[in-house]
Amino acid sequence: MSQNGPWDRRTQPNTPTDGKGDGFVNSNWATLSEPGKLCVNPKIDHKPESYDDLQLEFSPLLFSSLEAYLPLQVLNAPRDVKVHFMKNILFRYLPETERARVQRHKDYKQKIILNYPPLYKEIYTMQAEKFFTPSFLKAVRDNTEESFRSVMAEPSPGIYTFEMLQPQFCEMLVSEVDHFERWVHETKFRIMRPNTMNQYGAVLDDLGMESMLDKFMNDYIRPISRVFFAGVGGSTLDSHHGFVVEYGIHRDVELGFHVDDSEVTLNICLGNQFSGGELFFRGVRCDAHVNTESQPEEIFDYCHVPGHAVLHNGRHRHGARATTSGQRINLIIWCRSTVFREMKKYLRDSSSWCGECRRQKKERERLSIAATKQVSYHAFDLQAIGYSVL
Ligand SMILES: [Zn+2]
Repeated sequence: MSQNGPWDRRTQPNTPTDGKGDGFVNSNWATLSEPGKLCVNPKIDHKPESYDDLQLEFSPLLFSSLEAYLPLQVLNAPRDVKVHFMKNILFRYLPETERARVQRHKDYKQKIILNYPPLYKEIYTMQAEKFFTPSFLKAVRDNTEESFRSVMAEPSPGIYTFEMLQPQFCEMLVSEVDHFERWVHETKFRIMRPNTMNQYGAVLDDLGMESMLDKFMNDYIRPISRVFFAGVGGSTLDSHHGFVVEYGIHRDVELGFHVDDSEVTLNICLGNQFSGGELFFRGVRCDAHVNTESQPEEIFDYCHVPGHAVLHNGRHRHGARATTSGQRINLIIWCRSTVFREMKKYLRDSSSWCGECRRQKKERERLSIAATKQVSYHAFDLQAIGYSVL
């Protein structure tokens, strides 16, 4: 039986197995989606629509960033047609089990939003002047490499540190997370922790801060990443995972050596009083080289300062040393790029960003230059004793 036979259609009614996108809309516009393909070259000056108000299976940002790749006749169509066309494409990448997981997670978030009473409603929407320090805001508004460098340090290649958040916002966010933890304890609500490595902490997206963090990433992380992380999808960041982690005596103590599931990670210390907890970095690595040795120049340790951020490549190997006293709370935003992840499947050469790929490439070049030199020395010797060299 063919893979595109009727059996496949029955089991996956919304999946366009033959590329014709059946089952979504029945207007005349549906015929537009028949080829179901994006254009290779994006329309560079295109201003995408907002999809924030729609209940979608994927991040609204993903739809906005895909728009520039739509074929012209779809690009000029009404928004619901564009949604339909893009959904058809995205569903091809999402198996049934993954779709069920996405739906369960949506229900889980909805349950929290309906039941949890926020302590500070005002931090659930972006208020840049109240969140960020004036110097950081000015740098972002000027939006040039020079303006970013004027407020940032690069203590080790590819690691950027800078003052970012106002103390009052840090305090409010810490209190909000404490309040949430108390609510979880009192109501015995079973929450999902930020990742497999942290026993404590909360996913801010699940708490109802998803659209605030979308703006946070779009307007305040992406402009910087576009300049400093362009080679790893920094200019096409389109989704995030935002969470708070807590370290201390009655919390997680340390965090093992790892890479993040992100293209670019923003890690901001929110406070409070603590000692220890330094971040240690050990070089950027691709999947194939994640367990290779560090070079001396890749070794870098960083001490957290409340309100200050560290921005780094998600593949920059790191860990956190034990927080030996007090309590340390950090806000972490993992920013991802669908475009970069898709491209990575086809590009074999990671030497523009993986330290080990780069080292090996240099070594190959050194050996080939040495071999060429040897050949030419040999030719020179032959010439010296009267042989002609072609
Ligand atoms: Zn590599």
